[in-house]
Amino acid sequence: TERSLVLVKPDGVRRGLTGEVLHRIEGKGYELVALDRRTVGRDILAEHYAEHEGKPFYEPLVEFMSSGPVVAVVIEGERCIEGFRALAGATDPTAALPGTIRGDLGRDWGLKVQQNLVHGSDSPESASREIAIWFPHLA
Ligand code: ATP
Repeated sequence: TERSLVLVKPDGVRRGLTGEVLHRIEGKGYELVALDRRTVGRDILAEHYAEHEGKPFYEPLVEFMSSGPVVAVVIEGERCIEGFRALAGATDPTAALPGTIRGDLGRDWGLKVQQNLVHGSDSPESASREIAIWFPHLA
């Protein structure tokens, strides 16, 4: 079975939506294999967001992601990478469909970065790379 790295981003933790996100993941039938709340610095985020370095939203993204605690979760289940991305909805929370985490709970705040509540790995390769960054003992 497959694993994915999920993050409840600082906006989600700040708004008290961690339980709601975990509820939807468990409701879907995925297992919570590891879970940790922590505030991370630029080093971890630079690794995590290496593919976005140099893009216009990179600096605000790192700033935002280090602005408060995140809850990092490893989930497990058949096709959970694709499954969680379906639960999360589109990157832009204004456009994300109702029924998804971002569509139901997210909105635009007129800031330089999409504050879109959650992250989920986008491929098996990203999942193993990201799990090694956030939970080295599971890699
Ligand atoms: P995530 O990887 O967080 O699940 P995603 O795969 O939909 O979301 P990516 O393209 O990997 O989005 O971008 C990572 C994050 O960078 C997004 O979740 C969002 O917070 C921010 N971001 C991406 N594109 C933009 C953009 N055009 N403007 C502002 N912020 C953006």
